[in-house]
Amino acid sequence: MSRRHRIAVIEGDGIGREVIPAARTVLDRAASACGFTLDWRDFDWSCETWKATGRMMPEDGIARLADHDAIFLGAVGYPGVPDHISLWGLLIPIRREFDQYVNLRPVRLLPGVPCPLANKQPGDIDFWVVRENVEGEYSQIGGRMFAGTEREFVEQTAIFTRAGTDRILRYAFDLARRLGRPHVTSATKSNGIFHSMPFWDERFAAIGAEYPEIRADQYHIDILAARFVMSPERFDVVVGSNLFGDILSDLGPGVTGTIAVAPSANLNPEKKFPSMFEPVHGSAPDIFGQRIANPVGAIWAGAMMLDHLGEAEAAALVLRAIETALGDPASPRTPDLGGTAKMDDLAAAITAAV
Ligand code: ATP
Ligand code: MG
Repeated sequence: MSRRHRIAVIEGDGIGREVIPAARTVLDRAASACGFTLDWRDFDWSCETWKATGRMMPEDGIARLADHDAIFLGAVGYPGVPDHISLWGLLIPIRREFDQYVNLRPVRLLPGVPCPLANKQPGDIDFWVVRENVEGEYSQIGGRMFAGTEREFVEQTAIFTRAGTDRILRYAFDLARRLGRPHVTSATKSNGIFHSMPFWDERFAAIGAEYPEIRADQYHIDILAARFVMSPERFDVVVGSNLFGDILSDLGPGVTGTIAVAPSANLNPEKKFPSMFEPVHGSAPDIFGQRIANPVGAIWAGAMMLDHLGEAEAAALVLRAIETALGDPASPRTPDLGGTAKMDDLAAAITAAV
């Protein structure tokens, strides 16, 4: 019997409803070429659901997703719906309930994608950002007192557990080892943040010592951000806390061109729970309905999903197809890449390349 992977699909809002079906076509082609089946199950949860029911997903939403091998998400969020609704009503519960403690984003300059940095060629920029995804600075612990008075103050607490810190650092070193990359860089700010960052540095040194063949170094987040722009060639794997990783994982795709081509994986590496794969971009209401969205971010996210499912050959096939299609000057190009093509034409070129 051929291999079958159960995928929960949440197209979500805006162009999520366009790019996810396009990506599915590409992934199905890769699956049939490699002899396995993607068993897609649709979950029609979005800001529309919230408007109709007052919830982004049903009360048993997490339980309904649990019985899948992966979750493939388009985008959630729409004008008129406050950001915290889609975030706290869907994305964050999924990340936390399924302990997706790694957010992984490749930063790679692809052929045919205009790079905002001068004189960069495909291959020059090729590294990974590993973000801690469930604890750290994004905590709900804290409070506000004396609101509206002269004495008003707020307190926001960050949580860094030993276990949570060690496992994200270890993931970064394991990734470098698995990919044969010689170098892990840590984002810190121990010269300004008194408790959490010295602890982070201490654990980085301790975990790094377990990987003697991998060079470990650290930069303060401010100069690290500058180096992303000035010398992105120097990185292999960059690891950061929830806040620093969040910033770097958008800065990375930013320096390689358009966020429309960038993918993001929310991983539970132990596979105890499903992991979630999504393009970096949002619902892009300004172009929704015109079918001109670039589908590459969603397709590349799908390739990361195949890799996570143990289908490395199919993942590589999809990634090569993206590079082949984008690298061919005669291929259709969506407007964000300087062309006039529709999403479906670019997706068809990638499917054909698979
Ligand atoms: P969110 O808060 O959901 O991340 P956002 O408003 O911050 O949303 P996007 O929805 O990603 O960000 O849109 C930012 C800009 O990038 C918009 O002008 C949008 O049209 C453009 N954009 C985003 N994704 C794509 C894509 N796949 N193809 C082409 N343009 C895109
Ligand atoms: Mg955004």
